[in-house]
Amino acid sequence: MERTPHIAKPFVASAAPAASDGSRIGFENVSVTYGALTVLHSFTLTVNPGEIVALIGPSGSGKTTALRAVAGFVRPSGGRILIGDRDVTHLAPYDRKIGMVVQNYALFPHMRVEENVAFGLRAHGAAEDVIKKRVPECLAMVGMSTYAKRYPRELSGGQQQRVAIARALAPKPQVLLLDEPLSALDAQIRRSMLDELAKLHRDLPNLTVLYVTHDQSEALTLANHIGIMRDGKLKAFGGSQSLFRHPPNRFAAEFLGRAN
Ligand code: ADP
Repeated sequence: MERTPHIAKPFVASAAPAASDGSRIGFENVSVTYGALTVLHSFTLTVNPGEIVALIGPSGSGKTTALRAVAGFVRPSGGRILIGDRDVTHLAPYDRKIGMVVQNYALFPHMRVEENVAFGLRAHGAAEDVIKKRVPECLAMVGMSTYAKRYPRELSGGQQQRVAIARALAPKPQVLLLDEPLSALDAQIRRSMLDELAKLHRDLPNLTVLYVTHDQSEALTLANHIGIMRDGKLKAFGGSQSLFRHPPNRFAAEFLGRAN
């Protein structure tokens, strides 16, 4: 499989400090089965520290399963998952130092915005004085400071997703997993959220992001590298611009050509 040279995106300043190796995500020959169905087949991928890698591919190709395996919600039947040099394959989700945002917000409806963000910190055992300081910081990071006292039902979809991002980032994870975070939003909000995600990553250059999307233009806009999956395998991987310009194989060419 061809690995194309890194193409720096405009939002990754070249003067940014090198991200620490501790945030590298490594899949080493990871297999996942559901009953008789194998949905990841010896899946191998490295997401370098501070990079955004987007996983795209047909529905059912295993993108979400790959993400959930990093989060610790599915247990591989073979292979290893590394965060930095730590083998996290058998660690519980809360011990992995990972933030995750899914498509449908998953905020707690009975908790105010600030309580939702605090929940993630409490779950990680943060002290109350730390929580008091960190919650406003995180809400400011996603432009939601004035909504701290609202309930999720009083927010738009885009605002709820901002809160979900604030909650995921509150414990200062080294790795952020995003599973179709914008797909429930309408096109205009999606575009502005893409800009905000890019800005967020500029502000947090050490954060390593694995981003699952069915939207190729989202992947192209946001990611440094893109992986294309089919049938639980990585069929192509490369710098996002070059992958689109020079698909390394027929499947990649057909997949990328089909959607536009
Ligand atoms: P993608 O994100 O690319 O659409 P998924 O990782 O969600 O793909 O799913 C990969 C395959 O695994 C699909 O065939 C899906 O039906 C199956 N699958 C996903 N989750 C489960 C589950 N909890 N139990 C059984 N099969 C599942």
